Amino acid sequence: MSLDPKRTVAELKELRSLTGDENGAQRVAWTHTWLCAREWFAKKLAELPVEQHYDAAGNDWATLAGASEKCLLIGGHLDSVPNGGWLDGALNVLAGLEVLRRFTSEFRGRPPVTIRLVDWADEEGARFGRSLLGSSAFAGTHSIAADRVRTDREGTKLEDALRRCGVEIDRFPEAEPERKNVQAYLELHIEQGPVLEQLDLPLGVVLGTKGVERHTIIFYGQEAHSGSTPMNARRDALASAAKLALEIRGIARKHPDAVCTMGSVKTFPGIATAVVGRCEAILDQRDLDPHVLGEMYAEAKAASRRFAEEEKCTVEWSRLWNIEPVPFHPDLLNLCEQAVHEVSGTSHRMPSGPLHDAAEVSRAGIPTVMMFVQSLRGISHNKIEDTREDHLELAVTALDRLASKTVDWILRRN
Ligand SMILES: [Zn+2]
Repeated sequence: MSLDPKRTVAELKELRSLTGDENGAQRVAWTHTWLCAREWFAKKLAELPVEQHYDAAGNDWATLAGASEKCLLIGGHLDSVPNGGWLDGALNVLAGLEVLRRFTSEFRGRPPVTIRLVDWADEEGARFGRSLLGSSAFAGTHSIAADRVRTDREGTKLEDALRRCGVEIDRFPEAEPERKNVQAYLELHIEQGPVLEQLDLPLGVVLGTKGVERHTIIFYGQEAHSGSTPMNARRDALASAAKLALEIRGIARKHPDAVCTMGSVKTFPGIATAVVGRCEAILDQRDLDPHVLGEMYAEAKAASRRFAEEEKCTVEWSRLWNIEPVPFHPDLLNLCEQAVHEVSGTSHRMPSGPLHDAAEVSRAGIPTVMMFVQSLRGISHNKIEDTREDHLELAVTALDRLASKTVDWILRRN
């Protein structure tokens, strides 16, 4: 059986018809439909000489034992958001399956190093708001105490939903030994953004996942009657926030891949007859370079103080959440670039704005790289998510090339 990228596209469609409806993919983790997808996938694996098991966090492992115990890991996630797309996560898993088939046939079931494929449990965090759940258990970066009491919309607790799927949250640390012998991790993913389409490129090499600085910014002015307060006597908190909302665009544009978003602005008292006395905004800033991230944060803070002063207001910042940038492995970036170049004639290096399981694996110290394939219209987490079929096929071929190159790299390295 040689590599057959068309089969991957056919299997993606099969999965779509099995686990989707008129609103899109419905493979939300810890639900019946998700379990159906996994059962379907297990049947595909059963045709190969692989050992298959679920770890203590519900990650699904398929292992093709090689001459060496040293292991190349390929991963993805079958779970989706509600009303999701047909490719997000599933492409990675099914392309990985095709690569596993090719290694099986080329080496008659015994490749030079062990090849493993993992379907991470609950990448999306769609139901309980905790993304990267399974890969964080693997990486040892889980947060059991905070996560167990999370509830879904119906009030079901995360730990109870997991238990119904045979997973005990207290046993998450038992997933960590799966890291043994893993020498490299590869993940193919749809871009979920418009960059590759704008550049007219099918594939991209992912430099790493961007770090995030997320802050609540509160401007304080003076609530006052909107009829009786002259313009020159106002202390309008919204005016300061509005100036900042425009300023952050210039702050981000100084750096090629940086983004700054003011995604939430609330005004108080929030009525037509009062000047805004208090304005609460949330600012989300992202970049792959920690220095750039720090610079943008400092710049936005200084600007907010300036605007507060101009409007006779005051301002307070508090951090909501932050995560360090995760740069991928330089050797694997080069191999990925070679693979992309071989199949598409060009290549482009780019950071990932969204987080992926690959970030958790990399944080565990395992050399990691990701490859992106173009997303049509840049849309994802939606039923209109799509990628050209010839691009999907190129992506499977490129992942396969990358896997072979990485096996050679593992052998050279040891
Ligand atoms: Zn995904």
